[in-house]
Amino acid sequence: MNTKIITNADKIDTEKLEHAIEIITKLQNELPEYIERGHGPFLAAIYQGDKLIAKCANTVVIDDCSNHHAEINAIRVAQAKLNNYDLAQLNLDMYITAEPCMMCIGAIMWSGIKNVYYGVPSKIVEQITGFNEGFKPNWLQEFKKLGINVYGNIETDLAEKVLEQYVKSKHIIYKPSR
Ligand SMILES: [Zn+2]
Repeated sequence: MNTKIITNADKIDTEKLEHAIEIITKLQNELPEYIERGHGPFLAAIYQGDKLIAKCANTVVIDDCSNHHAEINAIRVAQAKLNNYDLAQLNLDMYITAEPCMMCIGAIMWSGIKNVYYGVPSKIVEQITGFNEGFKPNWLQEFKKLGINVYGNIETDLAEKVLEQYVKSKHIIYKPSR
């Protein structure tokens, strides 16, 4: 069963949510192709309204870079494309197949992205894959203070299937060995 929607908005905007469900479903369906090409099991897209600005998967393993998460890759592509380190005036939306990790929450905060929509929550990602998503105390409330809207737990069933398949196919669970 899909997990209940979580948000920092005072009231759920059903139009926005319906739109996010559509985009995140599309991203989840595309994700297995990226995984087959060696990407990590996460995909992020940045939109301005209906216009796609950037779409990137996690490339930690193929790039040998621990910070090449999908969200950071997408922010980098969008900022280069728009020639602007500050995306705040452009009113951009980010859609992610999973809840951002502690590093990506920081990257989103610095980018100026206004709305964040994510699929599966970190707790479930950790349970299925063994990735450690980091500590994130009250990040939805902290984002609210910054004027960043967040909706999460969108179509979690779909994400769980993709992650379970990732693990079952014995793809790399990349992380520091400690
Ligand atoms: Zn991340």
